Amino acid sequence: MPTFTNPTDIARETLKLLSTRRVAPTPENYQKIYNEVSGAPASAEAQNADRTLQKVLQDMARKNPALRQTVAVITKAITDHDWKGMESGFSDLIGLSGDKDDSWANLIRDMLKQWELKQSGLSVARKRDGLEKVLVNFASDSRVLHKKLQALVSAWAKNPAAQAGGMLDDEAPPAIEPQPAHGQPAVEAKNLAVSADALSKDNFRLLREMLAQTLEIGIVPRLTQFPALSAEAGQLAVTVRAAVSPTELERLAKLLKQFWVKLELRGESDAMVMDGLLKLLKLLVENISELSLDDQWLHGQIIVVQEIISHPLDPRVLHEVERSFKEIIYKQSALKQGLNEAKTTLKHMVTTFIDRLGEMSSSTSEYHKKIENYSLQISKTEDINQLNSILGSLMADTRGMQADMQRSRDEIEETRRQVEASEQKIRELEAELDKTTSLAHEDYLTGTLNRRGMDDAFEREFARAERLGAPLCVALLDIDFFKRLNDTYGHDVGDDALVHLVHVVKETLRPTDVIARFGGEEFVLILPETDLDEGLKTLTRVQRELTKKFFMHNNEKLLITFSAGVALRLPDEPSDAIIARADQALYRAKAAGRNRVFPAE
Ligand code: GH3
Ligand code: MG
Ligand code: MG
Repeated sequence: MPTFTNPTDIARETLKLLSTRRVAPTPENYQKIYNEVSGAPASAEAQNADRTLQKVLQDMARKNPALRQTVAVITKAITDHDWKGMESGFSDLIGLSGDKDDSWANLIRDMLKQWELKQSGLSVARKRDGLEKVLVNFASDSRVLHKKLQALVSAWAKNPAAQAGGMLDDEAPPAIEPQPAHGQPAVEAKNLAVSADALSKDNFRLLREMLAQTLEIGIVPRLTQFPALSAEAGQLAVTVRAAVSPTELERLAKLLKQFWVKLELRGESDAMVMDGLLKLLKLLVENISELSLDDQWLHGQIIVVQEIISHPLDPRVLHEVERSFKEIIYKQSALKQGLNEAKTTLKHMVTTFIDRLGEMSSSTSEYHKKIENYSLQISKTEDINQLNSILGSLMADTRGMQADMQRSRDEIEETRRQVEASEQKIRELEAELDKTTSLAHEDYLTGTLNRRGMDDAFEREFARAERLGAPLCVALLDIDFFKRLNDTYGHDVGDDALVHLVHVVKETLRPTDVIARFGGEEFVLILPETDLDEGLKTLTRVQRELTKKFFMHNNEKLLITFSAGVALRLPDEPSDAIIARADQALYRAKAAGRNRVFPAE
């Protein structure tokens, strides 16, 4: 093939070859044949270089799959001898494999983040505008495009209200337009940080100090409830103070923004905390009227609240606490009712129990003491468990007492049985005795005549006196203060005293005189052939004898005296009539001071 140097000749020859080779007249085929005709790139060395380059590129793509697309574009450009395509491809390749901060992935991530972020004064339409302008102007050069897009995104991030189009030149960042105050500390801090560029050195120091103090004095002390946030604010203040240039301070703006966002979230939860606290307080107050009954109880609930407020408050925890607190109140009020009922019932039971015990036995004084003590404990306690333990002890003691009482009851039962048997025997003996006595004429104790013997004697002696025409006296004597003697020394001593008296009387009287026991310590004397004077003297003699012959009891001399009434029998006077008159005299003798003998009227 002849060598053409003139481009016109090369073009003519190329068209001729296209036609003779019958290949499709595409620009690629034209380019290919043109190169062939012109001769330069078709050299063997150049082909070797192409292959070597393609191999290196494919190695790169294998090691870093992110480069695969760009490598494919470059490979095709090499094959097609497309120098412009190759340049663009390589330019992309350099951008992709370069510094990570410049990487497209990071850029796109940042851009999406800023795109979705709602920024006051910077609408999505405005962002789209800015983006389109950059794409139109710089799409042909990916490196420049990357740079410009990065500037755009950081402008969005720094100033939500900035003019997107005006920020394209990163050499001269646009001035920040002041935003209307909307009370968001995050915005204010950013403004301060970005404006720092324009500040003088003095102003920079002033601003830096103000910012640090705002954090230290204004923020840290208000975050005592949130130790992590408080520490972060403190650390930020330290970092702010350490900043030596406005640019450094500007970098801090990002950290500050993150911090403000956290603080704003905290503020929301603070409101919730306050709301929760208020609810809790209301609940507590509502419950206080219920609690006033039991002080210990109130104490318990207050401890719960103290426990809650001793820790940093968190809305979720507060909600939990409120729920469980409601539950506690419900359970406690139910328990309280049950407890009061149980206490009342138990107290009633114990009272009844104690009353019954008192009725059951009079010899359980030690148990009475114990039970009284339990009763006291029960009245004092407000604790159902304590009440149970007291009752347990009471029951244990009661069981012991029951055993003791069973024993006593058995003993009492046995005694009662014996008493009944004795009583039966006594009744039998008495009946027998009565029967015997009614038949006999003598008093079984004193050996004097009994009523029956006396009646017989009256009959006999009256008949005899009437036959003889002799006087007859009847005396009725009664021992003085005999009851006192019985009471002082006992009935047996009294009996002995009666026997002693009879003994003395019998010794003093004549053998023909009769003594009969009229009843108790009263005796009837029948004195045949005796007038009233003699009768009185006889009784006085007996009195005297009694002062001589003491009644002895345990070596003690006991003086027994009696009073007496003496009646002279009237003609045909019956025994009961003469006894009645004698009795009247006796009455007067007693009235006169006892130890006297009075004649009957
Ligand atoms: P007064 O001087 O007024 O007669 O006083 P008194 O205590 O003797 O009077 P009263 O007639 O009231 O009391 C009689 C007492 O005698 C009552 C009773 O206890 C007691 N007595 C009656 N019969 C017996 C008996 O067989 N044995 C004994 N030990 N006491 C008897
Ligand atoms: Mg009497
Ligand atoms: Mg008497």
